[in-house]
Amino acid sequence: AISIHWFRRDLRLEDNAALYHALKSTYPVLPLFIFDKNILDKLPKGDARVTFIYETIADLKKQLQQSGSDLLVKYGEPEKVWPEILKQYDIKEVYTNHDYEPYARERDDNMAEYLTSEKIAFKTHKDQVIFEKDEILKADKTPYTVFTPFYKQWHAKLNDFYVKAYPSKKYFKNLLQTRHLPLPALKEMGFENSKLDFPKISYKNKLNDYAKTRDFPAAEGTTHIGLHLRFGTLSIRKAVRDAIEAKSNVWLSELAWREFYMMILWHFSYSAFDSFKKQYDKIKWRNNEDEFKAWREGNTGYPIVDAGMRQLNQTGWMHNRVRMIVASFLTKHLLIDWRWGEAYFAEKLLDYEMASNVGGWQWAAGSGNDAAPYFRVFNPELQTKKFDPEFEYIKKWVPELETKKYAQPIVEHTFARERVLRVFKEALANS
Ligand code: FAD
Repeated sequence: AISIHWFRRDLRLEDNAALYHALKSTYPVLPLFIFDKNILDKLPKGDARVTFIYETIADLKKQLQQSGSDLLVKYGEPEKVWPEILKQYDIKEVYTNHDYEPYARERDDNMAEYLTSEKIAFKTHKDQVIFEKDEILKADKTPYTVFTPFYKQWHAKLNDFYVKAYPSKKYFKNLLQTRHLPLPALKEMGFENSKLDFPKISYKNKLNDYAKTRDFPAAEGTTHIGLHLRFGTLSIRKAVRDAIEAKSNVWLSELAWREFYMMILWHFSYSAFDSFKKQYDKIKWRNNEDEFKAWREGNTGYPIVDAGMRQLNQTGWMHNRVRMIVASFLTKHLLIDWRWGEAYFAEKLLDYEMASNVGGWQWAAGSGNDAAPYFRVFNPELQTKKFDPEFEYIKKWVPELETKKYAQPIVEHTFARERVLRVFKEALANS
C-alpha cells in the first residue's frame, strides 16, 4: 500500500505542505504530476509556460530519482488518468495542496467524491498562501472587498507559525523506492519548446530599494518572481520570511495583494467572468477589432502603451505600472471590454494568475475592488512624465519613436476622456 502526493501548482520538493504531511504519514509516498489535457488543449502550442512546467517536472524527477524514488508523470484528463493509476497501485491516501481557481475547485470536488467512493482518503492542505479564503474576515464573518482593512488584519495576524517552513526533505526516506518511470515528450503532448528566458529566483538584492524603485519601469526594481509563485517553484512562506528579514514592508504588502485577490476570487467566483460591481456590465463597450489589434501589437501611437505591449509580447512580462497604464488605455481610451484585455494577458503573461489578472483588469476598468470612482482616467503623457521622464524604458521598446515610421495617436486624449466619462455615466446612472 502507498500514498500519492499529487503536484499541481506547488512544483518544489522543499517546504511543501502536502508533500510534508504525506511523507510523515503511514505509507511510502509516490509523487505524481498530471499534464492536464483539459487545460493544455486550450493553449497555443508554443506556450512558454508549458515549457517552464516541463523543465521543472524533469528537474523534480531527476532529484527524486537521486533519492531512489521517482515522479510518476501522466498526460490526459485527470478524471480518466486517476482510474488508470488506481489499477496500477494499491493506494490508501492521496495528498495535495489547495487550489482556488474555479476549474481547480470543480476538479478537486469531483476527485474527492471519486476517491472517497474508492475508499481512498483525499487529504488537502493550505500551501500557496499564508492566509486563505476564510482566515481573514470582517467582524461579521463576511469577506473584505477593499484591500487596506484586509491588509491590516493580514499583517496583524502574521507570525512565525504561519511562515515556518515544512521540512519535507527531512522525510525523504519515506518516498516509495521504485525503478525509473517514463516521462512523455513535450512534442507528444503537442507542444514546442519555447525560447523565452525564464526569470531566476534571485530577488534579495531588490528588496532594500524596492519601495523607491518599483514604480519606474526602466529601473528594473521589481523581483520577477510572479512565475515562481504561480507554479510554486518558490514557497510563499520563504518569500514572506525574506520580506520580513529585509524589512521590506512595501514588498510584503504586494505579496498580500496576491492573497487578497485569491480570497476575492474564492468568495466571488463570478468575478472571473462578470464585473465585480455588476452594474458595470451595462457599459456599452465599443470593442473595435482594429483598435484592439493596434493595442495588442503596440501600435497605438501612445509610446508608453506601445512600449508595455511590446515588452509583454517579446518577454512574457510587463512592469506593473505599465500594466496599469495599458489596461486603463484599453478600457477607457478605447472603450474595449476588460475581458478582452484580460484574455490577452492570460495568453501572454508568464506570471499569469487568474485572481490577480482579473483583479488588475477590473481595477483598471473601475468595476472591481477599488474605492476610487470610475472617472479616474490615466493620462499616458502625465504617467510618462512621472515614471519614465527620460524615455529610457520607452526607447528600449519603441526604437522608432522619433522617426516617421512611428504610429500616429489612435485617439486624441481629451476626446477619449470625455467619451468614456459620458459612456460610463450613462451606464451607471441608475445604480
Ligand atoms: P513584484 O513587484 O516584485 O512583487 C512580488 C510579487 O507580489 C509578484 O510577483 C506578485 O505575486 C505579487 N504582486 C505584486 N503586485 C501585485 C498586485 N498588484 N496584485 C497581485 N499580486 C501582486 N500579477 C500576477 O501575478 N499575475 C497576473 O496575471 C497579473 N495580472 C495583472 C494585470 C493587470 C492589468 C495589472 C494592473 C496587474 C497585474 N498583476 C498580475 C499584478 C502585478 O502587475 C504583477 O504581480 C507584477 O508586475 C509582477 O512582477 P514582479 O514579480 O516583478 O512583482
